[in-house]
Amino acid sequence: MLLPEHIAADRLVLRRPRREDAPAVAEAIAESLKELAGWFQWAQLLQRFADPEDMGDRATVANLRFDDLHNPVYFIWEGDRLQGEVILDNPLWEEERALEMEVWLRRSAWGRGLATEAARAALRHVFEVERCQLVEARIESRNRASRALFTRLGFQRYGFRRDHERFALSAEDWAADHGEAPRHLGVVVLSHPECLLHPVSPDHPDQPERLQAVLDAARELDLTMLGAPRADERTVALVHPDDHVDVLRARTADAAALDRDTDAGPGSVDAALRGVGGAVAGVDLVLAGHADHVFVATRPPGHHASRTRPMGFCLFSSVAIAALHARYRAGAERVAVLDFDVHQGNGTQDALSGEPGVLFISVHEELLYPLTGRQPPGAPNVVNIGLAPRTDSAAFRAIFAQKVLPRLQDFAPDVLLLSAGFDAHAADPVSTASLQSADFGWLAEQLRAVAPTVSVLEGGYDTVSLKKSAKAFLRAMVMK
Ligand SMILES: [Zn+2]
Repeated sequence: MLLPEHIAADRLVLRRPRREDAPAVAEAIAESLKELAGWFQWAQLLQRFADPEDMGDRATVANLRFDDLHNPVYFIWEGDRLQGEVILDNPLWEEERALEMEVWLRRSAWGRGLATEAARAALRHVFEVERCQLVEARIESRNRASRALFTRLGFQRYGFRRDHERFALSAEDWAADHGEAPRHLGVVVLSHPECLLHPVSPDHPDQPERLQAVLDAARELDLTMLGAPRADERTVALVHPDDHVDVLRARTADAAALDRDTDAGPGSVDAALRGVGGAVAGVDLVLAGHADHVFVATRPPGHHASRTRPMGFCLFSSVAIAALHARYRAGAERVAVLDFDVHQGNGTQDALSGEPGVLFISVHEELLYPLTGRQPPGAPNVVNIGLAPRTDSAAFRAIFAQKVLPRLQDFAPDVLLLSAGFDAHAADPVSTASLQSADFGWLAEQLRAVAPTVSVLEGGYDTVSLKKSAKAFLRAMVMK
């Protein structure tokens, strides 16, 4: 429960506060935000997404995800005073990609443009990151201020019922009005707070702290961080059966072990869909030239998931889906996938074996889980390179210089997807390899020269070395 009970229990209080309730509500929200240190940092990330020039420094827009209702809410702050909020709400959010928008502002803050700025930032997020197709607004007929606000934002009036008018803004109209060249984003990290909510048992290696460690590294490097969109079912179906999302939702309605290693529960499917959506959005960002390199910081990982069943901590085959998205929907002719997680990427390999225009290379330690990595018949596009146990930095770099990088350079991919696992680090408990974090920096330096890259977080189970390794990797990606 993210908010004090009396607020969460009665959303009407929050959404349409009586004037005398507003200060108490604002205070309660501010208090609960302070308690939620992790989420509050996230709020700051989304605030960065809102163009600072647009926002000015007098107002900030934050984002909080409510518990079971799953509605994004932007808060409008002036200093530490909550002045209002923008609520994006619709039960059809997932199916229709349409949602409803509601803005409220304290009377004392009227007339200063705060609501417009916040609503514009929220719209930018839903159209450009969440890829929503339509936003509707319902405005009480006598509410002239709201009518003026939504008209200013480009909403068109399309209908009316007894006591309210309906306005709508489509993604197309938004793009037409904001068609100026999008900001070039350099290196982008895509993540989402839902990925912290994938529940595993206390002794499971894939703890939320892993993701926090990677996000901390990204924050320390001051990278641009955007929300990873949730993939839709059609995207998942590029690799998995059409009903796979529904099947996994049903199987994870309660806490469940999907296989011997794969813990899951409510929230797991949404977390995993952010991983797929982030990988796909990353491909779109680099192929459109909006970003140089993208790192998708999500959990659970994906490279062991088979077409039909979760496996080895993984639910969906995120990187394979992104590779097929790049080939068949985003117009890439050649897509390379390199899996440098210390475990062999069996799920990715199965999904991409024999796939024209796709090269798959897995570099992994031999004799480790899942004991796969044999050459599949009729799949010259698959390359497996097994590392001897206890491989150190020098041997690792030599294998890349001799076998991996030349192969990638010859292939000359339009985009290079990376299954970025950091579990070959010496401190990681799951392997005998003895890499140092600097090796991952070296690797990034080599790989960024091959093509625009989209990395998706796979393994890495010692949080201290994971943070250092991810930081070295990301730092090398941003070097001029
Ligand atoms: Zn691994």
